[in-house]
Amino acid sequence: METRAIRGFNDILPDQVKRWQHIEERARTIFEIHGYSEIRTPVVEFTDIFARSIGTTTDIVEKEMYTFTDRDGSSITLRPEGTAGVVRSFIEHNMYAKSPISKLYYMGMMFRHERPQKGRYRGFYQIGAELFGPKEPLADAEIIIMLWRYFEAIGISPFLRPEISSLGDENCRPLFKRELVKFFKPKRNELCEDCQKRLEQNPLRIFDCKKERCKEIAEKAPSILDNLCDECKEHFDLVKESLEKIGTPFVLNPRIVRGLDYYTRTVFEVTTEELGAQNAVGAGGRYDALVEELGGPPTPAVGFALGMERMLLLHEKMFPDGFKKEADAFIAHIGSEARNRAFLLAYELRKNGAFIDLDYEDKSLKSQLKRADKLGVKYTIIIGEEELRRGVLKVRDMRKSLEEEMSLEDVKKLAIKLKI
Ligand code: AMP
Repeated sequence: METRAIRGFNDILPDQVKRWQHIEERARTIFEIHGYSEIRTPVVEFTDIFARSIGTTTDIVEKEMYTFTDRDGSSITLRPEGTAGVVRSFIEHNMYAKSPISKLYYMGMMFRHERPQKGRYRGFYQIGAELFGPKEPLADAEIIIMLWRYFEAIGISPFLRPEISSLGDENCRPLFKRELVKFFKPKRNELCEDCQKRLEQNPLRIFDCKKERCKEIAEKAPSILDNLCDECKEHFDLVKESLEKIGTPFVLNPRIVRGLDYYTRTVFEVTTEELGAQNAVGAGGRYDALVEELGGPPTPAVGFALGMERMLLLHEKMFPDGFKKEADAFIAHIGSEARNRAFLLAYELRKNGAFIDLDYEDKSLKSQLKRADKLGVKYTIIIGEEELRRGVLKVRDMRKSLEEEMSLEDVKKLAIKLKI
C-alpha cells in the first residue's frame, strides 16, 4: 500500500505554519476589535442543514458534498462551508433571545469534492464572520469595511479587487428573474446544456457559466441594479455611501450571483488576477431569510467567507523571502531613564498582545533606528528625555514615514494601534 494523503487534502508542514498563524492571528485581532467572538462548530452536520440552506440546485449540494450514512441510518455531511453550521448553532442555543446582535467568526476546514488544482482543494480552510440582528445597510458596510481592513493588515490588498452588487429581495428578484427568462428564451438553443437547465430552474445562475458563448449572450442581459425595488435600491445606495465615506474601495459588478441560494440584497466578492482560474479570494453578503429557513425566528444577517489557502498564496507572492513574523514595533530610547521606561513599556505592550523588540544598552538613536529598519517592523516607538518629561512617546510609521505623539500611559490604545 502506498503511504500518501488523500487526493485534494494537504499537510501543512512546520515551515509553512508561521504564515498560517500570522494570517489567523491578524483575523482574530481585526475581528475582535469590531466586536466579533470566535465560534467553533462541528465539521459534520445533518445533510439536510446544508441542502436547505445552500440550496438543492447549487453545484455544492448537487455534486460536491461528502455525504455518508451514519451507523444509525441518518444522512450526515462534512461541512462544505461555515455559515449553515453557525446558523444552526445560533438557533439551537437561542442566541437571538440573549442579545439583539450576535457577531461571530470562525476558522476551520471545509470539504468539497471538486477537481483539485492550484488554489482548489477538497479539504481547504476558510475564515468567516457572521453578523446576526441588524437589517440596516450600515451593518453591510461595516462588515465590508472590516474585511478590507483585514486584507490591508495582512498586506495583500494591492492584489485584490472588491466587487459589490445587490440581488434584490423577495419582491424584486422574482420580477427580475422573469425579465431574464424573457431575455434568454429566444436565445435558448445557443446556450449550453447546463444553462438551458438553469433557464428553467434559476436563470440568475446563467451569469456563473464559464462557457464563452453563454458569457457573450449574458453580457447583453438586463442588469439587476436597474431592476431593484425602491427599498432595495435605497439600501444599496446607503451601503455604497458608507463605504465611500470611510474610503473603502469597491467596484460595481451586477453579474455577481453567488453559488449559494441564501443571499438577499447586498452581495460582494473579492477577486484577484494573481491566481489564474481560482480568482475568488472571498465572498459574502446579506442573507435575511436563512435563519427562518432553518427554523429560527426571522433574523436579518450578513457575513462572508475567505479562502485561507488563496490568501496564503497571495501572501507568499507579496512576501516571498521566507516569512518570519516581524515584531509589531521596536522601542528606541535615549538616556538611561528612558531605557528603563522603555523596558517597562515593552512588558506592558506584550501583556496586551503586541510583539515588541528593543535594545538593552544605550546606543545612539541612529543605530537603534537602523536595527528597527533591519527587523522590518511597522512602527518604531521613540522615547527621549524630553518626551519622558511630558509623559508622551513618538510613534513612527516606518512605511509611511509619519510620526505622531501618544500618551505613555494609554498602553491599551497603543497596543491596538501597533497590532493592526
Ligand atoms: P464560497 O463559499 O464558495 O463563496 O467560498 C468562499 C471562498 O472559499 C472562496 O472565495 C475561495 O477563496 C475559498 N474556496 C472555495 N472553495 C474552495 C476550494 N475547493 N479550495 C480552496 N478554496 C476554496
